[in-house]
Amino acid sequence: MLWVQRPEPTRWRSYGGNEIISPEWKLSMDLSGAWQRAARGAMLLGEGGALKPTIFAEMSALALSTGAINLGQGFPDEDGPAEVLEAARQAISDGVNQYPPGIGFPVLREAISAHQKRFYDLAPDPDREVVVTAGATEALAATILALIDTGDEVVTFEPFYDSYAAMIALSGAVHRTVALRAPYFQPDHDDLRHAVSDRTRIILINSPHNPTGAMMGRETLELIVELAHKHDAIIVTDEVYEHLTFGQTHVPIATLPGAWDRTVTISSGGKTFSTTGWKVGWMTGPSDLLQAILAVKQFLTYVNAAPFQPAIAVGLGLPGAFFEGVAGVLQQKRDLLSAGLSLAGFTVSESQASYFVVADALPLGFADAAELCRHLPELTGVVAVPISAFVNDENKSGYASLVRFAFCKKVEVLERASAQLAGLAR
Ligand code: PMP
Ligand code: GLN
Repeated sequence: MLWVQRPEPTRWRSYGGNEIISPEWKLSMDLSGAWQRAARGAMLLGEGGALKPTIFAEMSALALSTGAINLGQGFPDEDGPAEVLEAARQAISDGVNQYPPGIGFPVLREAISAHQKRFYDLAPDPDREVVVTAGATEALAATILALIDTGDEVVTFEPFYDSYAAMIALSGAVHRTVALRAPYFQPDHDDLRHAVSDRTRIILINSPHNPTGAMMGRETLELIVELAHKHDAIIVTDEVYEHLTFGQTHVPIATLPGAWDRTVTISSGGKTFSTTGWKVGWMTGPSDLLQAILAVKQFLTYVNAAPFQPAIAVGLGLPGAFFEGVAGVLQQKRDLLSAGLSLAGFTVSESQASYFVVADALPLGFADAAELCRHLPELTGVVAVPISAFVNDENKSGYASLVRFAFCKKVEVLERASAQLAGLAR
């Protein structure tokens, strides 16, 4: 939960997890600094230098002010496993309330290592090859800031998660993208070969993918490893949705031959255990890479989330049935919302994983999804986010009518949203 001060009148209010940058809080372009690079990179620099809220904050605020169902920002509306929640309460009672070690409590690092062994047959050394971070977000930021020198290139897929673009720009790197196109959102291999060069320092991948719900095929992963070797690039892989897959098993790129030595794998407990506000993430990889990243990470947050760390360790050790159950329930929710969107007249891409499904509003007569999303609350009482928010300006036209809907919500909420969305059909 985040508390936000509103300038007029001055009071503190809870927005239940949604940050808001008030329109009154205008930063002037005269205020120089690195913030401008981060904001511009994430396409959040408005006219006259105003810092715009992220698409998630903007749409959550819209849901709050209109009372619409929030299928925008990806956070669950139900609690995760009781054992995990109870372990956090217990840890607070037991006095686990001071700084953990800089790389995280041993109990969590051991649990992360054991989880990698159990699911992927990887065996990172818990003392040298695992670092706990303040969510995947900090791991991504520290990795990019630590490994980039000005002018280096970072290759990502596009659409991309917003923090990548912000951190790439902040670091002074050049952001190169490879398109993922509807309906399957798989990259063209020639595009990928073309994007990676000797200037590439990092190939940053995200499978399962936000916002499209796509999972990258094995041949693509193999090509990424091959290109990373050829051009001496580092692979950074964001796998926060690793357990939320619908039928296919997630393959970490670090398991491919030749990948481990040049790969930083990033994940988080937020999605798997429905604890997005706890911000317990981690990275695994060869110790020389992690050491370099730690040099930056230790001055970002230093450490975080002491009592939540042993709780996430409990979660990572839950039986297989838990992990299957989470994916199974989410798959039913995907099916429910996807059917609702189809009935409403959208063309729906099949989501293979994650919290999200992409729907094309063109068949309903809406060519501009950003415009549609601004009006969706009054039209249907539902909030969603336009895919164009995850795409650089010069490429937005290829994604103009696509909308991302989150289905990590209670069944009755998804049923209500589907019924309301049906009102869009002409
Ligand atoms: N990467 C992706 C692809 C995400 O979707 C998210 C959060 N939704 C994050 C990173 C950030 O994860 P965390 O909350 O653990 O920082
Ligand atoms: N990752 C969440 C999403 O994609 C948003 C997190 C945030 O608001 N930064 O919806």
